Amino acid sequence: MKHRQFKRILSVCLALCLVFAAMPLKAYATAAQKQSELDKKNQEIKDTQSEVNQKANEQSQLASQISSIEKQIYSKTVELNNLNKSINQTKEEITQVLLEIEEKEKEIAVQNSALNERLRAMYENGSVGLLTVLFGSASMSAFLTNMEMAQRIHESDANMLASMREQYAQLDETKERLQTLKENLLTQQANATAKKAELEAQKVDLDEKKSQVSADLKELEASLKAMKTEADALSAQIRALQGDTSYSGGTMLWPSAASKYISSPFGNRILFGVKEFHTGIDIAAALGTNILAANSGTVIKAGYNNSYGYMVMIDHGGGIVTLYAHSSKLLVKTGDVVGRGQVIALVGSTGRSTGPHLHFEVRVNGEYKNPLNYVSR
Ligand SMILES: [Zn+2]
Repeated sequence: MKHRQFKRILSVCLALCLVFAAMPLKAYATAAQKQSELDKKNQEIKDTQSEVNQKANEQSQLASQISSIEKQIYSKTVELNNLNKSINQTKEEITQVLLEIEEKEKEIAVQNSALNERLRAMYENGSVGLLTVLFGSASMSAFLTNMEMAQRIHESDANMLASMREQYAQLDETKERLQTLKENLLTQQANATAKKAELEAQKVDLDEKKSQVSADLKELEASLKAMKTEADALSAQIRALQGDTSYSGGTMLWPSAASKYISSPFGNRILFGVKEFHTGIDIAAALGTNILAANSGTVIKAGYNNSYGYMVMIDHGGGIVTLYAHSSKLLVKTGDVVGRGQVIALVGSTGRSTGPHLHFEVRVNGEYKNPLNYVSR
């Protein structure tokens, strides 16, 4: 029985030993898992940010469309006010002309009856008619004088009447012209009113769209903020997990056995015409040449990534992580403990790469650092 008991105690001890031995590895695995969560979160943030930019762009386009419509509505309003003024003025002018016409009609009637009166008086002068006046003249000279007088009276009255009739005709013409003008103005007013209503409907439509876009934008910005908070929390968790160990490696080793040539430095650069932040340095090296671990540490990730291609991440403790990307072949796996200068992968051009090179990154507590401050070249 004693033997059995000893076996039980031993198995418990072994289990405990395994648990303790597994802990650092578990911490690395958790850190790696958190790191991939963080990478995913960062991608989400990037996508959401571009959506936000797109919405903001849409919003400002709508705002400028609305302001252009508002200007058009304003100018239509001014046009309508002017038309209303012209219409009122024309109406007043028409009223005025109608009054003048009425006046003229009366004058003509008066003049007409005056002329008729005079003619009648001439006929009836001395109870004889005009012909009698004329033919009853004492002499030829008297006849001519009477004739001339009668003609003069008649002509002068007739001329006055003719002139009045001409004035009347002119007034009538003016009235016609004003009425045509009024009709034209009313047509213009109807057109301007219709156009203004159309513009106002467009504005309502655009206002609606803009408030929808603004609401979307607000929502996106809120979720972006939430994502950033989550990313910060993940970074803090990663730092806490990596903080279990401390860095004691000193200056790191140059990671390429074949080349010391930097084809693209760390920091802001322009790639394919787009400004971007280069998170590491590119070391141009021949395909298949050795990639070396810059220092001893634990592989926290060895696998494929769309951007980095085949890549290795090594945790060196103290929150320092190095990354080796675009490899053609990986020679280590997640959880491996590697020594300084160990060949961990071969140079390639996998992932987002235009030719064989080693993309080398140094991250301190999750932040990208210029590798040249950490390695001796
Ligand atoms: Zn690079």
